[in-house]
Amino acid sequence: IVSYKDVYKSFGDTEVLTGINLDINPAEKVAVIGPSGSGKTTIIRMLMTLEEPTSGDIIVDDKNLWHMEKNGELVPANEKHLRQVRGEIGMVFQHFNLFPHMSILDNCMSAPIHVQKVSKKEAKERSIEMLEKVGLGDKLDNYPNQLSGGQKQRVAMARALVMRPKVMLFDEVTSALDPETVGEVLEVIRGIAQEGEMAMILVTHEMEFARDIADRVLFLDNGVIAEQGPPEEVLENSTNDRLQSFLHRFR
Ligand code: ATP
Repeated sequence: IVSYKDVYKSFGDTEVLTGINLDINPAEKVAVIGPSGSGKTTIIRMLMTLEEPTSGDIIVDDKNLWHMEKNGELVPANEKHLRQVRGEIGMVFQHFNLFPHMSILDNCMSAPIHVQKVSKKEAKERSIEMLEKVGLGDKLDNYPNQLSGGQKQRVAMARALVMRPKVMLFDEVTSALDPETVGEVLEVIRGIAQEGEMAMILVTHEMEFARDIADRVLFLDNGVIAEQGPPEEVLENSTNDRLQSFLHRFR
């Protein structure tokens, strides 16, 4: 469902990613770990079309993200093309990014109505269903500032899910939360993962969680995928020294 083909990304003179090749299957759950600054967030921001690769291609559901075909040639994607591909991807950020002036329900209804052009009635039904799924069916009319961090993050998840994405991206979604609310958010993600239908890419510092839900763990280091495989292989049995010393910090 997602393919990175020899993707490079620099910011000015800083080379962050130097040749990422990665194929993700339609229902696969992939955890991305690695030192601070290794480019984990950049990998998923490029997929969400928030950053453009310096070179290489990213394919989502057979569509080239940053290029489109015109008169038989590949040309840079326009806004309409980007919007279409983006519609297949949902993202949850570290800092929730909810609309503060809208109720929880309206936060969830906004994108289906304005981006997917579904009817108000359907947007409302889908939103209520997803808010119930994340355990917030009794908070529909509340505003973000009336919720705890964990609850806000669960709204952010419902808001992404109402778009029925084929791929969900989670960018360190627990790192801005109080320790006591981390568990409830991870529990919701686990539930979504168990339903199984969607591909998920999770950037995380929660190694236990990665082990628990990921089919595959990627260790990003020095601009490349330095190690990858099933969680037990990568998290327990790797002989990669840099990975060992990285993991050591979590023990
Ligand atoms: P962390 O675990 O600390 O969040 P990360 O692995 O997610 O780190 P990225 O956020 O992807 O790392 O950043 C990788 C590198 O790219 C860092 O050195 C960062 O300073 C740089 N970088 C990221 N975004 C930009 C930007 N918009 N402009 C300039 N440099 C950037």
